[in-house]
Amino acid sequence: DNHKETLGFQAEVKQLLDLMIHALYSNKEIFLRELVSNASDAADKLRFEALSDDGLYEGDSQLKIWVEVNQDARTISIRDNGIGMSREEVIENIGTIAKSGTRQFFKALTGDQAKDAQLIGQFGVGFYSSFIIADKVTLTTRRAGLTAEHGVRWESAGDGEYTIETVDKAQRGTEITLHLRDDEDEFLQEYRIKSIIKKYSDHITLPIIMPTVSTDENDENLKVIKDEVVNSATALWVRNKADVTEEEYNEFYKHVAHDFEPPLLTIHNKVEGTMEYNLLAFIPGRAPFDLWDRNTRRGMKLYVRRIFIMDDSEQLLPPYLRFVRGVVDSSDLPLNVSREILQQNKQIESIRSGTVKKILGALENLANNEPEKYATFWREFGKVLKEGIVDDHSNREKVAKLLRFSTTHDDNNQPAISLEQYIGRMKEGQEKIYYITAETFAAAKSSPHLEIFRKKGIEVVLLSEPIDEWLVMHLTEFEGKSLQSITKGSLDLGQLEDQAEKDQVEKANTEKKPLLERIQKVLVGKVKEVRTTYRLTNSPACLVADEQGMDASLERLLKAAGQ
Ligand code: ADP
Ligand code: MG
Repeated sequence: DNHKETLGFQAEVKQLLDLMIHALYSNKEIFLRELVSNASDAADKLRFEALSDDGLYEGDSQLKIWVEVNQDARTISIRDNGIGMSREEVIENIGTIAKSGTRQFFKALTGDQAKDAQLIGQFGVGFYSSFIIADKVTLTTRRAGLTAEHGVRWESAGDGEYTIETVDKAQRGTEITLHLRDDEDEFLQEYRIKSIIKKYSDHITLPIIMPTVSTDENDENLKVIKDEVVNSATALWVRNKADVTEEEYNEFYKHVAHDFEPPLLTIHNKVEGTMEYNLLAFIPGRAPFDLWDRNTRRGMKLYVRRIFIMDDSEQLLPPYLRFVRGVVDSSDLPLNVSREILQQNKQIESIRSGTVKKILGALENLANNEPEKYATFWREFGKVLKEGIVDDHSNREKVAKLLRFSTTHDDNNQPAISLEQYIGRMKEGQEKIYYITAETFAAAKSSPHLEIFRKKGIEVVLLSEPIDEWLVMHLTEFEGKSLQSITKGSLDLGQLEDQAEKDQVEKANTEKKPLLERIQKVLVGKVKEVRTTYRLTNSPACLVADEQGMDASLERLLKAAGQ
């Protein structure tokens, strides 16, 4: 009984396929990159599982990828001897989109083909890109560790359904055969396939093999088939920085990050000292769909002496750098590290703090040398980086330098001003960094509390993101200047204060005493105190929080959170 059954794709898969075939028509060749990338991931997974169960290799630990073209059958096959899949895994991984961010992705689609093509790229095209050039795809696979009769054949024309059946498969791993569409003969040319592999997959650390046919030296009627390794098959991250081209970095990034576009920033270091490791990290050009989902992130891959250990290692980077992608390859960690061991490992702690410093340093360089790129970075990831002020006490000063704010100086909602810049143009006699928090940028910008500051030409930082409330609780000073909310306590402008203004307030306080008392009576239980002020120039009144009390907008935030 081979249990042959026909199943329907998840509705979204069908939609994604249609979109992809249209959107990627001019960039069809990337199907090969995607399939090779999956084969490489499958090898990584096998190596990792085999660390604790050598038997999974079934006597064959030379992991490879084969690519074969069959002119007569008009097919291309991509085969690996990696981890393979069980029947359940095929249904789960190939018939559905299990990716995080799927919902957000479909919501973001606009119907505009150019825009949607970009979104698809960002979402990741993966296995389904096969259907761009194939009108039928056959996948045969067997999971490492299962016996030969547990092979699985999956087949689909990409039209909404697929069949799945149990078959015999002697070799573990996965083979994917693409039956080319009528007008896709260019992909039957071996040199074309080779050049695509060179272009996109040269960095893959496994050998990618193509059998090439030639004639025998002695007998020209005899054909010989030789395996040719098409890629360089060396780990990019251990190579010398000077020998790696930008193209190579970009393609490697697309592979590790499952991204479609080049990264914004590449950070490549060989770190030597107490701990030796290679770091190759990337800042993407765009925030992924699941940036706000703290549970499902795909960050750094951990390798030990070239051997893949695990994906998404949370021990390598703190959550506020969860947008960074790349590889750490340690020369010192034992091969049998597990997540549990990593959790309290001194070596990994030292790698982590080194990695964080390198990344923050690279961001600082970017800010200094390429402000436009930095503005892109800030737009995409600024809110996440702000979490670093709250979470990472040891690097607070460094993270604080990277922050960008809107202020009353330019009054627009594109945060571009650093605290250093703010301090650099403080008024003579100004000792504090003034800020206001509000629920929206418009509310912050038009607050009556700003009146006196605008009048005196004192710059005020305008904060309106929810995280900002936490930010100012943890960032109480920067380079010796304390941060001061302008909506809290009695206004103390220090040396910026005008004696005449003070006298006026004093005078008003005495003269208007009966009025103040009457207002206070009316508002009893609602406000603590009613005072005269020189804070305002146009507005008649404003609310002020207690110096010790909570900021009004923090109070709102906590109420909204049910506290
Ligand atoms: P992604 O690689 O981003 O997860 P894909 O669409 O490329 O998305 O692949 C979907 C899933 O199918 C993979 O995550 C993996 O679980 C499985 N898969 C694809 N190709 C292979 C393969 N050659 N060997 C084993 N599993 C595979
Ligand atoms: Mg993939």
